[in-house]
Amino acid sequence: MKLARLGVFGQERAAVVVSDTEAVFVDDVVGDWDRTSLEAGAMQKVAALDLSARPHVLLADYRLGSPVARPTKVICVGLNYAQHAIETGATPPPEPVIFMKAPDTVVGGFDDIVVPPGSNKTDYEVEICVVIGKNALYLKSPNEARDHILGYTISQDVSERHWQTERSGQWVKGKSFPSFNPMGPWIVTEDSLNPNDIRLWCTVDGEMRQDSRTSDLIFGIDHCVWYISQFMELKAGDVINTGTPQGVGMGFKPEKFIHGGEIIETGIEGIGTIKSKVVNA
Ligand code: MG
Repeated sequence: MKLARLGVFGQERAAVVVSDTEAVFVDDVVGDWDRTSLEAGAMQKVAALDLSARPHVLLADYRLGSPVARPTKVICVGLNYAQHAIETGATPPPEPVIFMKAPDTVVGGFDDIVVPPGSNKTDYEVEICVVIGKNALYLKSPNEARDHILGYTISQDVSERHWQTERSGQWVKGKSFPSFNPMGPWIVTEDSLNPNDIRLWCTVDGEMRQDSRTSDLIFGIDHCVWYISQFMELKAGDVINTGTPQGVGMGFKPEKFIHGGEIIETGIEGIGTIKSKVVNA
């Protein structure tokens, strides 16, 4: 099943995508794709619906918002692809590197990416994003993770490298500018996608920059969910950006950062693509 949120920013409505071109609104039954509704049984409610009997709308008539409404936490895994760790000059970490970015960085998958004032080191990162469906704390093993995953979507973990790496302290500084987490186009539910060996890529103005597979992950998705649950309670509606593969702008010689006017397209096999225009603040 594909879960989306359709409508103008701030007024999106929960929907189920039923074909390549159509969706069915379900907000009257489930509420929104957020913590409150998920904890109140949104997935059981939508499973009981006869979607074919409800009005169909054209996806093309609506803006695709972030498929999770106002994520309460945006948790990120850093240096989690072997080839990416090498390109950054880092030693592959013995345990997952975890950081967070401000949740209100999350925007729709077709919204603009805004380069901060004066920045000349804004970078792109395609990531498969885990959406938590059921609270998870102190999971006993990675095998328990799937029961807590609602599904998967695409994140663009936009990063300002100057603030991330040259201003002391934690990466959060370079990760939390407004618009720095385009997400979408929808959540593919956990029962519809095996995320362990799928292609993910990112282009800038049509030039392939990142093109890898999730099989290059150092710590797999289930491992990351289990690991994070050892020190933080994961709640329904939280999201985890699981890391980016090689090919980021900072990995090129010379570096290839993004600039106003460029188009960033970000895709994952089995989920879809999102596309953002880069604009200057
Ligand atoms: Mg990242």
